[in-house]
Amino acid sequence: MIEFANYIGGAWLAGDEVTININPSDTGDIVGEYCNASREQVRTAIAAAYAAFGQWSATSPQQRADVLEQVGIELSARREELGELLSREEGKIRAEGVAEVLRASQIFKFYAQEALRLAGDIIQSIRPGVAVEVIREPVGVVGVITPWNFPIAIPAWKIAPALAFGNTVVFKPADLTPALGWHLVEIISRCGAPGGVINLVMGRGSVVGDEISRSNHVAAVTFTGSVATGRTIREMVTSRGGKIQQEMGGKSPLIILDDADLDLAAECAVGGSLLSTGQRCTSNTRIIATPAIHDALVDRMVEKAKALTVGHALDAATKIGPVVDERQLETNMKYVDIARKEGGRVLYGGERLQLACGGYYMSPAVIAGCSNDMQHVREEIFGPVVSILKVDDYEEAVHTANDSDFALSSGICTTSLAYAQDFKRRSKAGLVMVNLPTAGVDYHVPFGGRRGSSYGSREQGRYAAEFFTETKTAYVHAPL
Ligand code: NAD
Repeated sequence: MIEFANYIGGAWLAGDEVTININPSDTGDIVGEYCNASREQVRTAIAAAYAAFGQWSATSPQQRADVLEQVGIELSARREELGELLSREEGKIRAEGVAEVLRASQIFKFYAQEALRLAGDIIQSIRPGVAVEVIREPVGVVGVITPWNFPIAIPAWKIAPALAFGNTVVFKPADLTPALGWHLVEIISRCGAPGGVINLVMGRGSVVGDEISRSNHVAAVTFTGSVATGRTIREMVTSRGGKIQQEMGGKSPLIILDDADLDLAAECAVGGSLLSTGQRCTSNTRIIATPAIHDALVDRMVEKAKALTVGHALDAATKIGPVVDERQLETNMKYVDIARKEGGRVLYGGERLQLACGGYYMSPAVIAGCSNDMQHVREEIFGPVVSILKVDDYEEAVHTANDSDFALSSGICTTSLAYAQDFKRRSKAGLVMVNLPTAGVDYHVPFGGRRGSSYGSREQGRYAAEFFTETKTAYVHAPL
């Protein structure tokens, strides 16, 4: 079995323990053994990043652009191979795995160009003879802590802007899915990033993530993951005066109005909630339907859910792969049970499946008769479970959509421009979709939510500069 080491200060270093990366489609398939970094190794990685910052932050933007461009080119060239590996470690179907690697490539190529575009401002001073400049500078060492569900896209959209703007990085991938993070760092290490600029420390959050979050040498931490972990990390980082950006859970609503195109609406409702095994923070898990379309929509959703073949992620017929691990599968089952006890009608799915290939499988669940105060409707499940709520009218739909502890994404299916425009204004979420699922975003525009879903400034697009740089305001008085 190949052992995959950590990358610290430009060297590959083994650890005392390993995490065994298991294929959730077939638990007999071991993807690899990934070394857990010790606390001492994390401290060494942070010190290496700290030492490398001076030189890297002083490089020309062209040099940084060239590194990122090379990474983007290699990711694209290897998308089939790495996409398949992604499917093996995370369980999303092959096409989605390949698409995610391609997305990571696009992100690196985008930020290669952003390195060259970073701009400040020149503003007239209120004092005669004084010039004012607003300059953007890198922050320092950035800690990158990521979840398991997008094991290369999320690391890419954090690491690429961090490096583009002259920061150095200590990266901790999710312990469940370290393979794609490992390959990403291996590629960056060969594309011209000097030792110490990118460091990989794998292992448990309570050790590796904790050490990163506590270190005074880590100027900023960018985190994506659950609300509970996010809160713990936020307290550690903010209490020592560090900068933090967080993307966390979701319970995104999709309103479906009577005037909606039924086919399109059902496609959005099912595709946006059940595909990728429901393991997307932006999934539209709350379907809010008005009375005239409700029954037909429910029937159509059940029909579509039944057509989604559950199976091994690498099987070409599969539409929904396995759940990521046993613990998440048990959580999903627990919530289906809660839904039944609360009065939800499980019209299809919600059963654990035993397939010949082994693995953590369940049939996607469609639950009708739900209300917004039910526990399974209010809490994030993070599995292939969709709840349908019937409301009286558009006003109640908007109120219900906004009544949540989360506010990541939201959507509406309607043929009325007036309703679409009104919802766009009144949605409290960070993302609003019209006649689209709430999941599925572009990489060159800001991404992020509000309330319990997010903390700090937006990720992605040029707005990422807000987090990965700091402004300095210079006043110059230079009389002749
Ligand atoms: P998680 O919170 O369990 O783990 C996220 C990361 O934090 C992992 O790398 C983990 O090892 C690390 N970690 C855990 N405990 C830590 C600690 N005490 N200190 C420091 N680091 C620690 O989340 P997960 O289960 O990997 O991912 C699923 C969650 O991620 C869901 O809630 C989902 O909604 C969320 N998510 C959000 C977005 C978004 O952009 N909003 C995107 C994807 C996933």
